[in-house]
Amino acid sequence: MSPLPYDDRFPINRVLPETGVDRALLLDQLAAMASEEDAAWEAGGCSGTMYCGDHDHYEFMTEAFGRFGHVNILQRDMCPSATKMESEVIAMTLELLGANRLDPSESSNQPVGMLTTGGSGSIGHAMLAYREHARATRGIERPNVIKPETAHPAFDKACHLYGIEVKKVPVDPITTTVDPDVVAAAIDERTVAIIGSACNYGYGTVDPIEALGQVAIERGVGLHVDGCLGGFLLPFGRELGEPIPPFDLSVPGVTTMSADTHKYGYAFKGTSVLCFKDKALRNSQYFYLTDWSGGKYCSPGIEGSRSGGLLAATWASMMSLGHTGYLEYARAIFATARTMRASVERHPQLRIMGSPTFLFSFTSDEFDVYHVNDFLRLRGWRLNGQQYPNALHLAVTRPQTQPGVAERWDTDLADAVAYAVEHADETPQSSAVYGGVAGGMTGEADEFIRMMMAEMMDRQQDMPAPASPQQGA
Ligand SMILES: *Cc1c(COP(=O)(O)O)cnc(C)c1O
Repeated sequence: MSPLPYDDRFPINRVLPETGVDRALLLDQLAAMASEEDAAWEAGGCSGTMYCGDHDHYEFMTEAFGRFGHVNILQRDMCPSATKMESEVIAMTLELLGANRLDPSESSNQPVGMLTTGGSGSIGHAMLAYREHARATRGIERPNVIKPETAHPAFDKACHLYGIEVKKVPVDPITTTVDPDVVAAAIDERTVAIIGSACNYGYGTVDPIEALGQVAIERGVGLHVDGCLGGFLLPFGRELGEPIPPFDLSVPGVTTMSADTHKYGYAFKGTSVLCFKDKALRNSQYFYLTDWSGGKYCSPGIEGSRSGGLLAATWASMMSLGHTGYLEYARAIFATARTMRASVERHPQLRIMGSPTFLFSFTSDEFDVYHVNDFLRLRGWRLNGQQYPNALHLAVTRPQTQPGVAERWDTDLADAVAYAVEHADETPQSSAVYGGVAGGMTGEADEFIRMMMAEMMDRQQDMPAPASPQQGA
C-alpha cells in the first residue's frame, strides 16, 4: 500500500515546509486533484453526495464564502451581517417547512430555528434539546427516544454522545415505513421524543408523519421529522403534485424538523437548519457560562467559533436560486427519478422497495443484487449499498438530470441484469464488502469496518520519516 494518495505525483509533506511554498504551485496541485476527482461524478453516475454539480454555482458561492470565511460569527458585535443572514436562512427554511401555516394564537407555536454544521449537527441539537427540555419540564433523568430502524445513524450517534437510550423499532419490510402503533407501543414514561423520516436515507420513503404526530400528541412526547435529505426537495415535490404525504411543521404533533442546506439546498458542505415549532424547546439547549474568569460566555449550540463564510455561501445559494430555481431543479429531479425507476421496474428480477420519492432502492428475490452493482461499477456508476436485505439505492441529484444519463442508466442496467442472471451462482465481489452478513454483524464484518477507518485516518503512520531532524536546524 502506498503511504498516501497522489504520492506518485506530488511530494509527501510530513513537516511544515521550511519556507512557504509558492501559491501558484499549491493551487496547481489542488486543481489537479480536484479536477480528477470531479470527473468521477460529473457524468452523472454517482448517487447522492453531489447534489448541485453546477460549477458556476460553486464559483458564485466561493466568492460569497471568501467575503466572510475569516469571520467568526460567534462575535456578533463584529458581524451584524451574520445576524441578518442567519435570521433570513432560518426564516426562509421555516416558511418552506410550513411554519407560516401554524396557528399563531396557540402559545406553543413560536417557530424558530438554528443553523448547524450538517445533518448530524441538526439531529444532535434536536436530541440534546429534547433531553434538556424533558429534564426541566418532566423531571426525566434517563431519557429515551423511539427510532424506526430506517432512521439515520446520526440519531444513534447523538444519543450515544448525550446519554439518551435509543429504543429501535422495526419497519414494515414491504413499505419500509414505520407502523405508528408499533411506535406507540414502545413509548414509556421516560420517552422524550419519537422520530420519523421524510424521507429516509435507505429507501427514500416517507414515514406516516400525520399518524406519528397523533401518537406524539396523545402521549405527550416530541416528534422529530428528519428532513435532512428531503427537506429542501419534498416541499417542491408536493407543489409539483408528486404523491408525497404531509410531513412538515404544519402537521399537528411535529415539534422539530431538520433540513440540510448542504444537500438539496445546494449550499457548500457544512450547514443544515434545525427548526423548532416552539422556541422554549430550542432555548433549552442554549449554553451559558456567565461567571467564567475569561469573560461571559454563551453559545446557541455545541459549536464555538463558526465560519461566516459558510453562512454567507448558504444564504447566497438560497437567495440566488429563489423559489423558482428550487422548483425547476426539483421538477427535473423528480422527472428523472421517475424515468430511472421505470427502468428498474422493467426487470421482473428487480423489486423497488416501498413507494419511494426522488431516491429509490431496489433488491432482487432471484439473485444477489450486488451482481448488478459489480457490473454497474465497471460502467462508472456509484450506487449506495444496503443490507438486510441486500439492496442498492440511487439518490437522484442534478448531475443525473443531464441529457443522456437516464438513457445510459436504462442500457447499463439491462446489461447488468443480464450479467447478474448469468453469474447468479457466484458470490458478487461487492456484496462481501457492502452487503449484509447472514445472522447479523460478525467479528469479520466488524473488523472490516475498523480497517476502513484506519485506511482513512492512520495513513500518516506509513509516511516516510522526515529527511532530517528539524530540531535546532
Ligand atoms: C445525510 C443525512 C443525515 C446526516 O447528515 P450529515 O449531513 O451527513 O451529518 C441524516 N438523515 C438523513 C436522512 C440523511 O440523508
